[in-house]
Amino acid sequence: MPSKQRKIAMMGYRSVGKSSLIIQFVEGQFVDSYDPTIENTFTKFIRLNSTEYEVKLVDTAGQDEYSIFPLQYSMDFHGYVLVYSINSSKSFQIVQIIYDKLLDMVGKIHVPIVLVGNKTDLHLERKISTEEGKRLAEKWKAAFVETSAKRNESVTDMFHAILQEIERSDGHIPDK
Ligand code: GDP
Ligand code: MG
Repeated sequence: MPSKQRKIAMMGYRSVGKSSLIIQFVEGQFVDSYDPTIENTFTKFIRLNSTEYEVKLVDTAGQDEYSIFPLQYSMDFHGYVLVYSINSSKSFQIVQIIYDKLLDMVGKIHVPIVLVGNKTDLHLERKISTEEGKRLAEKWKAAFVETSAKRNESVTDMFHAILQEIERSDGHIPDK
């Protein structure tokens, strides 16, 4: 059987660990400094629930409150990973702004989304509780995962979660 193709965008404020999560998942290593301006697409084949997927992960340079939602990210994507870091309240605000813009652009009620709280290894600096993250994801009807790209904790789970969210919506690209 041919593999199912899935295209996923990684979005969030700068420095939350979008690139680190992708590189940890695809290459199995933690890179300490990765050029924050690079927008790369990574491909990985994975098998989940006896289905073979070809996953294309599109890394973005990051968004802030002033970013206009890029038109190219509103089309052609099966799902979105929205990342904040648990030690940054600002990044938690930004993820909500991105979500609002995303829904406006995609114009569909259900968009497969996983909300990710990264950098759990920095628990001494935690600003956003697990409960707060969970509550936001529930409001969105999205999946929620806390991760550490550095320690490779729950990174695989998080990418599995987005594939499952997409599967729940049948893998259709949301209508415009
Ligand atoms: P991006 O701008 O969202 O792509 O963020 P990067 O992946 O470039 O990461 C920004 C900084 O945070 C880098 O210095 C990373 O090494 C660091 N970083 C990323 N993930 C983690 C993590 O899980 N824990 C810790 N402690 N640092 C992280
Ligand atoms: Mg990056």
